[in-house]
Amino acid sequence: MSPMASSKTRVPRMLRGSLVTLRRRCGKPNCHCATTVQRHEAPALSYSDHGRTRVVMLAESDVAAVTAALERYRAAKAELDEQAVAGLVALTERVAADRATRRKGR
Ligand SMILES: [Zn+2]
Repeated sequence: MSPMASSKTRVPRMLRGSLVTLRRRCGKPNCHCATTVQRHEAPALSYSDHGRTRVVMLAESDVAAVTAALERYRAAKAELDEQAVAGLVALTERVAADRATRRKGR
């Protein structure tokens, strides 16, 4: 088991992408999916890899853990973005304050 996976599940703690439902033919010539408009629905994770969309098929039993991992990533990313924005504000204020101090000094 990879260090990213918890002991309870084989799904990693964090995932990027979106949960989708694929509707497909299974390939068996006698199946209803070959002769009717009905398709097999299967959960999958869709994600972007260097501009290409890729899909990983999921077991139904992994969907809840994948959903949680996606949410964990979304929350962590939002917090990181917030810190970066706060950093920009702090830097902008410090630069402006330094400039004001220099003007007064000369
Ligand atoms: Zn089928």
